[in-house]
Amino acid sequence: MTADPADKRKIILSGNRPTGRLHWGNYTGALENWVRLQDEYRCYFMVADWHVLTTALDKADLIAHHSREMFLDWLGAGLDPEKSVLFIQSQVKEHAELYLLLAMLISKGRLERNPTFKEQIRDLNLGGEISYGHLGYPVLQAADILAYRAHAVPVGEDQLPHLELTREMARRFNRLFGDVFPEPEALVTKFARFPGTDGKRMSKSLGNTIEIAASPEEILEKIRPAYTDPARLRRSDPGHPEVCAVYTWYRKFLPEEAEATAAECRSAGRGCVDCKLKLAAGVTAHFAPLRERREAFAADPGKLDEIIAHGCEQARAVAAGTMEEVHQAMGLG
Ligand code: SF4
Repeated sequence: MTADPADKRKIILSGNRPTGRLHWGNYTGALENWVRLQDEYRCYFMVADWHVLTTALDKADLIAHHSREMFLDWLGAGLDPEKSVLFIQSQVKEHAELYLLLAMLISKGRLERNPTFKEQIRDLNLGGEISYGHLGYPVLQAADILAYRAHAVPVGEDQLPHLELTREMARRFNRLFGDVFPEPEALVTKFARFPGTDGKRMSKSLGNTIEIAASPEEILEKIRPAYTDPARLRRSDPGHPEVCAVYTWYRKFLPEEAEATAAECRSAGRGCVDCKLKLAAGVTAHFAPLRERREAFAADPGKLDEIIAHGCEQARAVAAGTMEEVHQAMGLG
């Protein structure tokens, strides 16, 4: 995609932290939606590598590898470098400068009151060990969004407080220095809780994920012991598909099979072993085109390098244009 000034579509920005291969939860919660958005918006999709450092500084040496893996997952899933700008945050240094300038527009107390931050402290058991960078990560997020003057950001409901912080910083900047930034709107993605192999929310930290790029053997291996209806102890017991992770996966990936699955489960006409084997075959076929596309890109590292370099170059050009306007507005020489 080129930054064509005649392109009047609204701009969106979104990103993922590169912490390893993406899984079904990432796919249904974001990636699948991004692929659709590409035709409607001018999209910037960012590998948020600096954001990983806020919570996993000890894994810094893995970030470059994970960033490439993320690009492969994206390309396999259908993000198209001809339609969207796909780039790596750390390759666009303008984010760091804008982060510094935006940091002057928000108080420490306001960042500490951010509900998502409070939850993270509790969930990650961070206690008093909070880095300055971690506290300030919503400011870096604001810089990511405002560098491209995005009009909208696809977010889950839990991310709304962060976006509000971005809107506050944009508003404050505009009030002090003149209109440079749009106040980005939320494109709220509503998605039902997506279960992992243990029935809890699919999450890498819980070790219950199935990767988008999983081979047929890996899919089967993960599905075989997966959580089903705990009340169904014998093959002859009627089941309750609504509590079963396997049934949720049917509804998502094989919706044409969902009704028959539920009926046969409830009447004990189908056993869980058969049900899982059938799902594994169906899901393998569902993800086959994605896996094949991913493998083709993985087999051509030179081409992947080119795609990454081109996306970063496009992003830099746009972010540099924004920073020029920021400098002018602030009178920064
Ligand atoms: S038959 Fe299928 S839907 Fe029913 S409990 Fe077993 S795995 Fe779940």
